[in-house]
Amino acid sequence: MKAPAPEDGSGSLQRGFLGVFAYSRRALELVWTTDRRLSIAMVALTLLAGLLPAAVAYVGSLIVDAVVHAAEWHRHTGAFELTPVWSLVGLEALFVALTAAAARGLSLAQSLLRAQLGQRVNVMILDKALTLDLAQFEDSEFYDKLTRARREASTRPLSLVIRTFGLLQNGVSLLSFVGLLIKFSPWAVLLLAAAGLPAFFAETRFSGEAFRLFRWRAPESRMQMYIESVLAREDHAKEVKLFGLGARFLDRYRDIFKRLYAEDRDLSIRRDAWGLGLGLLGTVALYGGYAWIAAETVAGAITLGQMTMYLGLFRQGQGAVSSALRAIGGMYEDNLYLSTLYEYLEQPVGRATGHALEGTLPGDGIRFEGVDFLYPGAGAPALTGIDLHVRPGESLALVGENGSGKTTLIKLLTRLYRPTHGRILLDGLDLEEWDEQTLRRRIGVIFQDFARYQMLVGENIGVGDEQAFDDEGRWRDAAAQGLADEFVDQLPSGYQTQLGKWFQDGRELSGGQWQKIALARAFMRRDADILVLDEPTASIDAGAEARVFEHFRELTAHRIAIVISHRFSTVRMADQILVLDDGRIVEHGSHQALMAADGRYAKLFTLQARGYR
Ligand code: ADP
Repeated sequence: MKAPAPEDGSGSLQRGFLGVFAYSRRALELVWTTDRRLSIAMVALTLLAGLLPAAVAYVGSLIVDAVVHAAEWHRHTGAFELTPVWSLVGLEALFVALTAAAARGLSLAQSLLRAQLGQRVNVMILDKALTLDLAQFEDSEFYDKLTRARREASTRPLSLVIRTFGLLQNGVSLLSFVGLLIKFSPWAVLLLAAAGLPAFFAETRFSGEAFRLFRWRAPESRMQMYIESVLAREDHAKEVKLFGLGARFLDRYRDIFKRLYAEDRDLSIRRDAWGLGLGLLGTVALYGGYAWIAAETVAGAITLGQMTMYLGLFRQGQGAVSSALRAIGGMYEDNLYLSTLYEYLEQPVGRATGHALEGTLPGDGIRFEGVDFLYPGAGAPALTGIDLHVRPGESLALVGENGSGKTTLIKLLTRLYRPTHGRILLDGLDLEEWDEQTLRRRIGVIFQDFARYQMLVGENIGVGDEQAFDDEGRWRDAAAQGLADEFVDQLPSGYQTQLGKWFQDGRELSGGQWQKIALARAFMRRDADILVLDEPTASIDAGAEARVFEHFRELTAHRIAIVISHRFSTVRMADQILVLDDGRIVEHGSHQALMAADGRYAKLFTLQARGYR
């Protein structure tokens, strides 16, 4: 077992202990704002369910006494006088029926709330995910938080609320029992309370331990979920089959389970052993109380009816004490889990950005000034000392080996990441100062690992311009420019064809077809004045690529076009070419200038040109 991180150690147990109710208020608020009527119904039913047991016990004692009284009357006078007994029996039956109705009603209210609350919390989690930075998604520690929140926290608020109400119900019952029992002896009340305490402490201790286990395990659980997705999803199935990886991955999956199971088993065994031992203490207290009550009855201090009542109260009281304490233990556990939800929800989102809607030098285009960038946790910078200026109407091609920093440069330009040093200006204004929406609208990017949405073909094109997401006319125009129209028209339902295997009748596209969809997506962004294509044409033949770039150049005549490509036939068309190596600019200029300089670009160009000949 891994050693606990200090912050997860006993500190959280102590803090947590004070904080048993720390999140209860928030959970109650959550339930209240989710459905007021159901919340009120739950409170009313809980109070009713809490009061009824004492009422039943009390009526029960009246029945016994009435029976004894009627029997004596019969012995003395020979007359049967049963009316009081019948009415009491009827009353008790009514109370018992009400108890059942209250329990049903409670469980109905709970299951209705469970559905609503689960949905609400999941929406909260996803809503928050929308505000996160890309860097946060790539941060494994943060990802653990998200996983934990998604896995457990959505069921915990309701569980906390159910337990809070359970505590309320048991508390009400106990108070009413105490009210009746105190007439017998205050010591009996004390005995009742003391019997439950040891079990309670054991319960909280083990809840804390279970929670810490759960926290440490986030990376393992994540690996398990990942393997599940590799083994059970169509996008990996091909390779898993052909490389025969299934058995190996499944073994890895089993090993993780075995390790986790061993820990679970240890904890469960200890938890139950302690629970049994401490529960026995409670039984001893209970039967001590029985003996005492019996002795008092024989001594004539209480009636037979009272004896039945006190015995009942004692038994039920002990049950109520232990369920109340168990509820507190469970609330403690729920609070710990909820802390992970709120930790996630309260995660600060990246730096606030500016509100500028336009730059100080409209028409200046993009400038990089001494930009360095180091990925969080990486040893070496991905970009160093980048200086660059691209004006509207100009095009820029980025050239360089894999890993030379081309994509990173685009990620910085789109503010998915922020430079470690230096600054990036758009129309004379630092990217940081731009309003988020405005910036997103102005820049359109198609990455090489563009998303393949399992939605309609048309929607896959429409995602390029959120405001024209459903606009079939725009889909068609964009598809024609991206050369996707030919094959889309041949699909069974044209633009309404469902893509992806997750859904019925979903079609799969070839790599090249997908790239044409991605290109069409780029052409959807008519209003963006900076368009970036990050190698989306690699699977398209060179002739088609050239045609696509014709369209692209027309589209971007007065805008900025940035292209990443390994095809020099495309690259040479750009006004500026930037050759990157290991995060640095090694050459920069037009095709003619770079050819004349006879450096790396010229060498690579000649090499590729020879290959084509
Ligand atoms: P290119 O697009 O030129 O192939 P990238 O810009 O993707 O190169 O990568 C540049 C460098 O940054 C590489 O060394 C790569 O390993 C590293 N890198 C890329 N993405 C990340 C990331 N999300 N986290 C850490 N390092 C990264």
